[in-house]
Amino acid sequence: MMKTSSQDSYHSLRHSAAHLMAQAVGDLYPGVQYAIGPPIEDGFYYDFDLPSPLKEDDLPRIEARMRELAALGAPIVRREMTREAALEECSRAGQSYKVELIRDLPEGEPITFYDQGGWSDLCRGPHVATTADTGHFRLLSVAGAYWRGSEANKMLTRIYGTAWNSEQELEDYLKRLEEAKARDHRKIGKDLGLFVFAAEQIGQGVPLFLPRGEMLRHIMESYVRDTQTRYGYQHVWTAHVVREDLYRRSGHYDNYADVMYPPMVDEDAGVTYRLKPMNCPSHMTLYNESGLKSYRDLPLRMAEFATLYRYEKSGELTGLTRVRSLTQDDCHIFCTEDQVEEEFGLALQLIHEVLGRYGFTDYSVRLSLRGDEPDGKYVADDERWTRATAALRRALDANGVTYHEATGEAAFYGPKADFQTRDVLGREWTASTIQVDFIQPSRLGCRYIAADGSEQTPVVLHRAVTGSTERFLGLLIEQYAGAFPLWLAPVQVMLLPIADAQVEYASAVGARLRQDGLRVEIDSRSERVGLKIREAEMQKIPYMVIMGRRDIEAGVVSVRRRGEGDLGAMSVEALIARLQSDIESGA
Ligand SMILES: [Zn+2]
Ligand SMILES: [Zn+2]
Repeated sequence: MMKTSSQDSYHSLRHSAAHLMAQAVGDLYPGVQYAIGPPIEDGFYYDFDLPSPLKEDDLPRIEARMRELAALGAPIVRREMTREAALEECSRAGQSYKVELIRDLPEGEPITFYDQGGWSDLCRGPHVATTADTGHFRLLSVAGAYWRGSEANKMLTRIYGTAWNSEQELEDYLKRLEEAKARDHRKIGKDLGLFVFAAEQIGQGVPLFLPRGEMLRHIMESYVRDTQTRYGYQHVWTAHVVREDLYRRSGHYDNYADVMYPPMVDEDAGVTYRLKPMNCPSHMTLYNESGLKSYRDLPLRMAEFATLYRYEKSGELTGLTRVRSLTQDDCHIFCTEDQVEEEFGLALQLIHEVLGRYGFTDYSVRLSLRGDEPDGKYVADDERWTRATAALRRALDANGVTYHEATGEAAFYGPKADFQTRDVLGREWTASTIQVDFIQPSRLGCRYIAADGSEQTPVVLHRAVTGSTERFLGLLIEQYAGAFPLWLAPVQVMLLPIADAQVEYASAVGARLRQDGLRVEIDSRSERVGLKIREAEMQKIPYMVIMGRRDIEAGVVSVRRRGEGDLGAMSVEALIARLQSDIESGA
């Protein structure tokens, strides 16, 4: 989701700051072994194998040493070496991770080191000129990280830092970081009681959803499902367990073997199964097995909210953003080549509508096209690519979508469109995609009978709007900081009787609201109403409805709106009308 925005101008700066930190750690912790230390979005890290553990309290000391080294302004010098000499140097220094890295470098690639003031590191570069040019940096945190991301390897110590060109940039970034922390969906998810993780009992990266979290999933999925139905999609259901040979035939096995859960083998039947890592082969099988299709059956828009299982590396799992069980809003549109333009246009409209409902009206599309690579990278013939590319451009223009073209970025099986937008913190992310596929349908033997009676292979558009329910929910939690608009809020109205005598009245009002499909809870505890209001505010409940003796006598309720405060007294019918209008407008 959170795509790295291109920040090439910071690349050398941050990579050099990582080296500076490694040098400082070497000075302070003799005997440290260096693993890897790349620049990343907004900063850098370095992985160390340390003789003794390190805590966040130790960071200021390392940072201070970095400043001393920066002040020396030592030139950073590139040095090329032969493989033998490089291995010899790193072995002598006892740097076993570097030895392993050198052994893995492809034959013929130049092996370079970068030296600065008596310290050196195996590195491809490039770097800034001297240690004084490492900008305005700050060390941020310490984490554990497995060597090469594999749990089978040793856990190393990773130190994260950030580096910028000016003090102002650094300050702004630290402020954004604070804001991001306050909005962190893992924290809010816990505070609002939306989901939990139980790594020891269920497994890492597999969230469990509490009633309010499940209600959110249900609302999100129902909304997209109803919209898809309106656009002529048909929803299907396919199982979570699939024979492995299907993925060998589809070609996924070669690309996805790393992220598939291990095989389940039925020795007696001689069949191997896998947990489903993607839907396409299942949908194409469903297309094939549900009777021979004619051109009159096309376009056929097949949709499913399907939970998929991907064994992501443990180091890459983060809350709902990267999980091992993800629910894709996956669609496959089977159509003729002539229908690609119209179907693509229809998908653009659907995505526009759905993203707009969630408040993401400002997006642009990256249209990934084939490059001039030699034959073999892209399948299907030139003319089909050319025709499909032209059809996509026409559909984007006709729908007034802003787009830029990325040549050479297409999938091997066809061109694709990615929708990129920014969240409230300015982070760029991609949720929706539409991909044209010329190859999988023929690999899996999809056919239709054309108007002239000949057998043809349909083109398939793979299409996702929100990407996955889990990831999109994580994004929405951060976008709204947990204060969901009324239509999305798992609990829309909290009824707050002032005393026990009003609980019965509250129940009757609750029943009336539920009749209109509103999601209502009653806080009937014998607590002061001030406390109940505060707690409902903390739970980010959009409406609080307070009922005292006088309200009952007057046949009204007192209404508070989250963030707006007291709206005064109104009849239950007036309240319902107000709620319906908020739901309608998306407020
Ligand atoms: Zn380096
Ligand atoms: Zn697909």
